[in-house]
Amino acid sequence: MVEKVRDKAEERGLKVLLVSAYRNSKTCPIHGVEMSFPLGPKLGLCPRGHWVHRDVASVLNMLKKATEKLEGKYAEAVKRALSAVDEKMLEEWSRQVLEAEGSIRTPRPAVLARASPMTPAGRGDGDPDGDRGRL
Ligand SMILES: [Zn+2]
Repeated sequence: MVEKVRDKAEERGLKVLLVSAYRNSKTCPIHGVEMSFPLGPKLGLCPRGHWVHRDVASVLNMLKKATEKLEGKYAEAVKRALSAVDEKMLEEWSRQVLEAEGSIRTPRPAVLARASPMTPAGRGDGDPDGDRGRL
């Protein structure tokens, strides 16, 4: 599969970078610390007091790892973009992912900010290990 993706990317003049899938979705992409999942498998709680959907965390952590393999100016551009990500952005993106998954409905209350359950334990659908998004 990697070869097929690599071939398709090459056809379009793109380069494929492989990064480790290790702990991408369990680590806070801002603080680099392990999150807990008190509300179910999707929503991580950073020990620093904010929430992030594990798919959002995963993408950002993979990007961070990719900077180690990118050429200088590209690595710097990605690092600069990542450094602009704050807790508020993480929570907004996480809300959008939950909405897209149908886990919450609009209009939404600011449940993330209130640290209330968005996906009560046992109500999550599919993806029990929440590890989609791996490369
Ligand atoms: Zn954090």
